[in-house]
Amino acid sequence: MFKSLVNIFSKLMATRVELHASATCPECGSQLAREAGDHAPKTSWQCPNPDCPPQVLQRVVLWASPEAMDIMGCDTGIVSQLVSRGLVRDAAEFYRLRLAEIAALDGMDKQRAGELFDAIRASKSQAAWRVLFGLGIPNVGATESQTLCRNFPTLDGLFAAGRERIAGNGGVSEVVARNVADWFADPVNRKLITRLEKAGVNFRSELYQSQAITSPVKA
Ligand SMILES: [Zn+2]
Repeated sequence: MFKSLVNIFSKLMATRVELHASATCPECGSQLAREAGDHAPKTSWQCPNPDCPPQVLQRVVLWASPEAMDIMGCDTGIVSQLVSRGLVRDAAEFYRLRLAEIAALDGMDKQRAGELFDAIRASKSQAAWRVLFGLGIPNVGATESQTLCRNFPTLDGLFAAGRERIAGNGGVSEVVARNVADWFADPVNRKLITRLEKAGVNFRSELYQSQAITSPVKA
């Protein structure tokens, strides 16, 4: 038992050493970069290519997941097919899908395809904090997304606020504020936000309570 554990451990170590030596992503061949951030473990490497297939899949899976946009019937199997067929590469592409494209997926029948098509359309009116969480910004989990949406009336308002105002008014840590600002500074992400807004995805926060509402009502 102990010996087999030692074997597994040394194999893992060997893989890690190999990874250091080659330092390229096994999926897309990009040069690996050491993970950024003060808390990243020393041995942590990541692929910097945003188009790296597993990263694309991970982002699209998160968007559709029950924790984020909760698109009914859009499980990992369906998402994998949508991604591998090149139909969906980011969140906004869900809203360009045609019924015929969904119906052509493996294991799909007419009724299921119709239901999924409707579920994708319905997800446009999901709560703004789900939209924010679904973007997969580092350190912005469901809790942080809800806190930010309590303090900013719209998602465009949040992104326009910039790092200092997010840290000052957002009720979140410096790290979260920086990550939100950094994420939006990337032109690809700015474009994604514009495309989502054009598709009709809800950016208005129903959690937001302005000062006027939260202050006690005078008798
Ligand atoms: Zn890669």
